[in-house]
Amino acid sequence: MFNILKKITNINIETVQIEISSHCNASCSYCPQHIYKKNIKRNFLKKEAIENIIKDLNRNTYIHLQGWGEPFLHPDFFEIAEKIKKSGFTTGTTTNAILLDDEHLEKIVDLKIDYLAFSTAGSTIHENDFTRQKTSLDHIRKIIFKLKDIKKRKNSSKPKIHIANILLKSHLKNFFNSDFFYNLIKPDQVVVSSLSLACSENMEEEIFLSDSENSFEITTARFTCFRKKNETPIHYHIVSPFFLTEQCTENIEKTSFIGADGNVHPCVFLGLPLKEKAEIFIRGVKREISPLCFGNIYNQPLKKIWESKDYRRFRKKGQKENPVCRICYKKSIEYVIEEENSIKIDNYDARWQIIRDANKAKKDKERLKHELGQL
Ligand code: SF4
Repeated sequence: MFNILKKITNINIETVQIEISSHCNASCSYCPQHIYKKNIKRNFLKKEAIENIIKDLNRNTYIHLQGWGEPFLHPDFFEIAEKIKKSGFTTGTTTNAILLDDEHLEKIVDLKIDYLAFSTAGSTIHENDFTRQKTSLDHIRKIIFKLKDIKKRKNSSKPKIHIANILLKSHLKNFFNSDFFYNLIKPDQVVVSSLSLACSENMEEEIFLSDSENSFEITTARFTCFRKKNETPIHYHIVSPFFLTEQCTENIEKTSFIGADGNVHPCVFLGLPLKEKAEIFIRGVKREISPLCFGNIYNQPLKKIWESKDYRRFRKKGQKENPVCRICYKKSIEYVIEEENSIKIDNYDARWQIIRDANKAKKDKERLKHELGQL
């Protein structure tokens, strides 16, 4: 009876993303951590805050430990992950792998962390290591091999190994020759995303992978062919220059982002750990961005913040009203993969569905013209 009542009063969120660390030990050319360097607030979320986040969540909520920093810098990473796992949630994290060693990998497998994603950029060691300074693609390869050995020895299917690859326009040429890398390391899934936040004018030039509709069609067709060359499922999350949907693909009706200072935001972009306003560049215009916060997890449980009037209003109307949201690149994600090749990945399902639905409505090209006409 108690359990049934608890289920009714719990909040219905599909994914909570928790930035346990806004400190980072890498220096990636496209990242706000690097571009806004002096304007970043650096914090570790205290482990005590986790209870206030998870206590009213349904156990089918996916909890991803990642934000704008490196999660493994957090001194209590494993305590936090253990608390979340022991409370019955599915969880994962994304890492640059710099700190990972044998001891970490053993613990990750022992705790049965569900997903471990490795961030990469570009397609060659040179492209990755140059763009993501202080990281090493070769180190990631070695870590993945070790992790696979440990999983085998411990007879564990967890964690699933993901690669989260950022594809800049200047790296596109080499991308189509990178199947050897994925076929070598054989991760469980690869997600290739174009950049969707430009913190400098230079970075804006890296977002659109093609300039004309014709060449964009050819590029997406090549993505489909490339997928067939790989033994690993590859998903694409590519910004299209040619349409703007009404709904962003961050699924903000069912997702929340909690920053390392405890502030609760609708998404990672509106949760940048900024000391003061910063400039971003969207579709050729300069816009100011500052964090949009609906409460702090140190003072209130997530349920109270989630159900507050302002947060509810934002979920309903914010994407139409907020000046950043109106033209955000997350409203222009092209669905590249053919249906029959898709695989079911729990924490991405809702997002792929939104992308699929949005792509059916190519009348959204008219919305793009309308919005750009108003800038
Ligand atoms: S549209 Fe708004 S809520 Fe959605 S990702 Fe962009 S900034 Fe975030």
